Amino acid sequence: KVSKADDDLRKLLSEKRIKGIEDRQVGSEVFDSMTLKTLYKLSKMGHIHILKGAISTGKEANVFKGYNKDNELVAVKIYRVRSSDFKKMQYYIQGDPRFNVRTSNKRQIINTWVTKEYRNLMRAYEVGVNVPKPIIAKNNVLVMEFVGDEEGNPALPLRQSKISNPQEVLEKIVDYVKILYKDAKLVHGDLSSYNILINDGEPVIIDMGQGVLVNHPVSMELLNRDIDNLVKDFKKLGIHITKDEIKSKIMDL
Ligand code: ADP
Ligand code: MN
Repeated sequence: KVSKADDDLRKLLSEKRIKGIEDRQVGSEVFDSMTLKTLYKLSKMGHIHILKGAISTGKEANVFKGYNKDNELVAVKIYRVRSSDFKKMQYYIQGDPRFNVRTSNKRQIINTWVTKEYRNLMRAYEVGVNVPKPIIAKNNVLVMEFVGDEEGNPALPLRQSKISNPQEVLEKIVDYVKILYKDAKLVHGDLSSYNILINDGEPVIIDMGQGVLVNHPVSMELLNRDIDNLVKDFKKLGIHITKDEIKSKIMDL
């Protein structure tokens, strides 16, 4: 007798697109046996029913499009244990009072990192910042709301988007950075035109694994860098605003 769970796993693993991914080499790296077990558990829980193609194959993680058991679109971010930057991860985790990990176990570091990303997204979501709603973090896998249209086309990063109203988009982003700082007590730490998606004209902030609490020793350095990036990115879009102007908006000076 085939159990429902086994059936789900079979569906998950036999989905053509996963094979397609494996053919392109990244699959063998992404879907090591621990990752497969994690995907299996997530499928049993109903969070991932079908895994479709990769939206992005990044340095440390791949992001896939998927569907949950209710046939709703989800984004599935899977960190590769082999190519993650543990030094960086450890550095950011250590100063974070939410986590108490003293380990050099790579898997544990990644798991904490993914939990951190989940919790940062949740904090941002709860104060009303436009981020993908996080659904679940398990081991090296983060499942979150899919950002894109109903047909399943993912939203493009700001860098690749054509926006007609850069001034308005910048104001919204600065407002998000401000409420992140003031209400969620969080600094993104990796804000750039890669980590801002434009969904139907609206900016959506993603990739919050690196985010730190404002009392983290590097929070100001990261906030300054985030602001520098905004100045540079929007200069390319024809908006001239200084770092100090943005900073005074965020700090209410
Ligand atoms: P990385 O650590 O590789 O930079 P990101 O979280 O920035 O990971 O995701 C990489 C890319 O995947 C993004 O630039 C975006 O194109 C896509 N992406 C990430 N999360 C989502 C999502 N929730 N919905 C749609 N696309 C996403
Ligand atoms: Mn990114």
